[in-house]
Amino acid sequence: MAHDTIFDRILAGDIPADTVYEDEDVLAFRDINPQAPIHVLVVPKHRVERFADLADRSDAWIGRFFSTVSRIAGLLGLNENGYRVVINNGKDGQQSVEYLHAHILGGRGLSWPPG
Ligand code: 5GP
Repeated sequence: MAHDTIFDRILAGDIPADTVYEDEDVLAFRDINPQAPIHVLVVPKHRVERFADLADRSDAWIGRFFSTVSRIAGLLGLNENGYRVVINNGKDGQQSVEYLHAHILGGRGLSWPPG
């Protein structure tokens, strides 16, 4: 069993988070070090370490996760002006927390390409 990450501890309620949405499958909360006026992390309650591990999950679970990310972005008021969804994977992807999460970034124009 992989070690506990900061997100395991947030999901367990051991560490507080600024929650913006919760259902039986995900918890979404504001990033502690926001890179945009709106920067929310969507974390599945079922532990998956990396995007690369998604092949172990069912298509229905993966579909629900992404449709929930889309819904949360809408709830955050980002549909009109747009936003970015980012999933960092592994060392080169600069993943710092080994627990799958989607970043929703919005509220300003975002540059491209990423560094
Ligand atoms: P990654 O680099 O793994 O894609 O993203 C991890 C994100 O988690 C970072 O943007 C970082 O700021 C955020 N983060 C790390 N620790 C905490 C925490 O304790 N609370 C919250 N809300 N965000 C955190």
